[in-house]
Amino acid sequence: MAENIFLEVVTPSKAVVSEEAQIVVAPGSEGEFGVLKGHTTFLTSLKLGTLRYKDSSGHDRAVFISGGFAEVLPNKVTVLAESAERRKDIDVDRAKKAKERAEKRLSSAGGGVPADIDFVRAEAALRRAIHRLSIKGVA
Ligand code: ATP
Repeated sequence: MAENIFLEVVTPSKAVVSEEAQIVVAPGSEGEFGVLKGHTTFLTSLKLGTLRYKDSSGHDRAVFISGGFAEVLPNKVTVLAESAERRKDIDVDRAKKAKERAEKRLSSAGGGVPADIDFVRAEAALRRAIHRLSIKGVA
């Protein structure tokens, strides 16, 4: 069997993942990509999405990523994310509240200029909340 690759996912406030993985699949801004040990070196930006990996015991893991960068080396993947949580650490109530807040802001901003900073922020917050809920299997 192929050897493992080391995966690190960090945000400005915490280390989210630091362990070996059999395979890593990440939401690149140009599309999802998979990495096994021995992959060619490259650097890419990431979009909001789910980083998936198989840990060294073969368990499937999912991590919410709000966007960021990934550096791929032959033996290591480093993800620098704006915010990230493992599926088990996602707080469903918090995400539901964030979704409601964002929806309220967006409906009260109806007819506003699309480039309005609050509109853009609320839209991004809504996307984060919806994706967190989808990882937890909540519609
Ligand atoms: P909120 O409005 O609830 O803070 P947000 O989308 O604005 O949500 P982020 O800016 O993406 O939050 O993240 C801020 C910090 O809070 C990060 O450390 C992130 O991991 C954590 N976080 C945000 N939402 C959740 C959640 N639903 N469950 C667990 N951790 C969360």
